[in-house]
Amino acid sequence: MTKKVIVITGASSGIGEATAKLLAKQGNQLVLGARRESRLQDIVKAIKNAGGEATYAVTDVTDLSSVKKLAQQAIDTYGQIDVWMNNAGLMPQSVLAEGKVEDWNRMIDINEKGVLYGINAALGIMREQKSGHFINTSSIAGHIVGPGSAVYSATKQAVLAISEGLRQEEAQAGSNIRVTVVSPGAIATELTNSITDENVKKGTEQFYDQFAISPDRVAESIAFAINAPADASINEIIIRPSKQVM
Ligand code: NDP
Repeated sequence: MTKKVIVITGASSGIGEATAKLLAKQGNQLVLGARRESRLQDIVKAIKNAGGEATYAVTDVTDLSSVKKLAQQAIDTYGQIDVWMNNAGLMPQSVLAEGKVEDWNRMIDINEKGVLYGINAALGIMREQKSGHFINTSSIAGHIVGPGSAVYSATKQAVLAISEGLRQEEAQAGSNIRVTVVSPGAIATELTNSITDENVKKGTEQFYDQFAISPDRVAESIAFAINAPADASINEIIIRPSKQVM
């Protein structure tokens, strides 16, 4: 399998961390972005100790210049960007009547605009290379809306729309840029820590305690999409715990 340069946002924990570690183990070169530097340092160290290659840049996906610096770090260190995973996200769910406007803004800025900033930072580079692959993390919540999930679902539906638009545009341009959306169900990560409504947090944690599966499962499905032959584009992966109904 050819070695690839893979950039991941939201790589300091959960799905991003698991994916980075698996892809590094498979011989790829990893470039990790997130805000918590000590976490990134620990993960890069663990990858290197296991014989892999990785670097990081402290990144805030709400700041376009910060996301562009992450792309530059990949170019400066490894000379190209083969895969860019827009994965940073948070899920402070609440009913609209609670009026948690700050949470709405953070979800829109990170989950939705953060994905656009990632595309903006990497698409020009991939166009020049005439190859590339975007992996965008949506959610089951991008397919199903429920009470409390209106804004989170809206941002994850936006990820689906942006990804499908990008896929069609790049296919039309013949740029050899592939697009994959991954839509996970309940995965055991730190995601529920971002919930600011105490009742919603308690209920969600109980659900996760009962059903959530390891982020390694998501990582394995992402590796499958990345390792597919270049003429095949796996456009969406929906991955739930086997026991999760909705
Ligand atoms: P985690 O909370 O473990 O990871 C979230 C990651 O996003 C962290 O690395 C965090 O790093 C990063 N992040 C948050 N805000 C920013 C920011 N402004 N700039 C850069 N990075 C940021 O949760 P998950 O691994 O579960 O979440 C990853 C993605 O998966 C999210 O998009 C989430 O919506 C999605 N998802 C998760 C599901 C689940 O059940 N866990 C289900 C469906 C989708 P730091 O704080 O260091 O910046």
